Amino acid sequence: MTTHSLLILPGDGIGPEVMAEVRKIIDWFGSKRDISFDVSEDLVGGSAYDKHGTPLHDDTMAKAQEVDAVLLGAVGGPKYDDLDFSVKPERGLLRLRKEMDLFANLRPAQCFDALADFSSLKKDIVAGLDIMIVRELTSGVYFGEPRGIFNEGNERVGINTQRYTESEIDRVARSAFELARRRGNKVCSMEKANVMESGILWREVVNRVHQESYSDIELSHMYADNGAMQLVRAPKQFDVILTDNLFGDILSDCAAMLTGSLGMLPSASLGAPMANGRPKALYEPVHGSAPDIAGQAKANPIACILSFAMALRYSFDQGDEAARLEQAVESVLASGARTADLMGPEGGTPMATSEMGDAILAALDASL
Ligand code: NAD
Repeated sequence: MTTHSLLILPGDGIGPEVMAEVRKIIDWFGSKRDISFDVSEDLVGGSAYDKHGTPLHDDTMAKAQEVDAVLLGAVGGPKYDDLDFSVKPERGLLRLRKEMDLFANLRPAQCFDALADFSSLKKDIVAGLDIMIVRELTSGVYFGEPRGIFNEGNERVGINTQRYTESEIDRVARSAFELARRRGNKVCSMEKANVMESGILWREVVNRVHQESYSDIELSHMYADNGAMQLVRAPKQFDVILTDNLFGDILSDCAAMLTGSLGMLPSASLGAPMANGRPKALYEPVHGSAPDIAGQAKANPIACILSFAMALRYSFDQGDEAARLEQAVESVLASGARTADLMGPEGGTPMATSEMGDAILAALDASL
């Protein structure tokens, strides 16, 4: 039997609270489904700074490079706001992403029927929505040179540079096509080839990769501004959306909010394939450390639990078990179970974090 190695980094604020629920679920898969995990746990963010004076110890970084997957809770909090930039909690997360070279950021936008009323859009437009945005994460305008604020004549000029190499586009396009093969077999690539040379190259490379290796996948192209309109007009037309760092930043937040609460949103960041053929991977909820509710048992653990479901699918080759976990979440929500962030105007008594975790465990038991 294969043993999957997993490094857990709970982090700060509600991070450890939601991760405690994931630990229960990992144990459930170990005992009830015979999936063997070698789990280690370490510090990141403010908690690592408190112990080591750095938001990510070198030993933790080395461990992250060795394991099959890393699962992170959240980092940050007001206690660390005045720290020097170089040791802020977020620097720990950025170092992980950079040194693991995680170039493909996966942000699913999935609307559970029970929560369709939470969307700002009409229920029939979002009910059953299941799309995946693949955002290039390590290049583009956030990293391109030259950058800075310079003097030019008698005024200043702010400069950032959108820059993509063919190989950077090639590798993230492959990630998107591979994902589409495990989903609805469709990729829509978004750029602004009408006004940007980087967009023209993006489109050319995506077309080449498609022709060379993925002609079984339906590929379409869309200008990113039209993509934004289509996302709120008719989001269910999409399966996988492939886009660059800047457009992906905006489009993924827009798509995520179609589905309701921040407490529901998982993510994955993937890098190059390792010796086992699976990509280097970091899984984490989209939300932060939520200091306003930390320590009050109010946090919704579902975003972190669904991040683990993504790890089951993309790092551990357990797509059926990932679907089992997602269905357990869906059935718990359908039964009316709600943490405080999911309470509608009709009110009621919200569940505590651990009660939501236990309800999902019970639904997993019922699935056997
Ligand atoms: P946040 O995501 O922590 O919280 C925003 C709002 O959403 C808060 O009202 C919070 O209570 C609520 N919320 C978030 N997650 C929730 C959950 N699971 N269940 C219920 N409610 C939830 O964002 P913020 O307040 O802007 O940032 C707080 C701290 O988190 C800051 O230090 C910030 O730098 C850090 N942060 C970290 C990450 C990360 O670790 N990836 C991401 C974003 C923010």
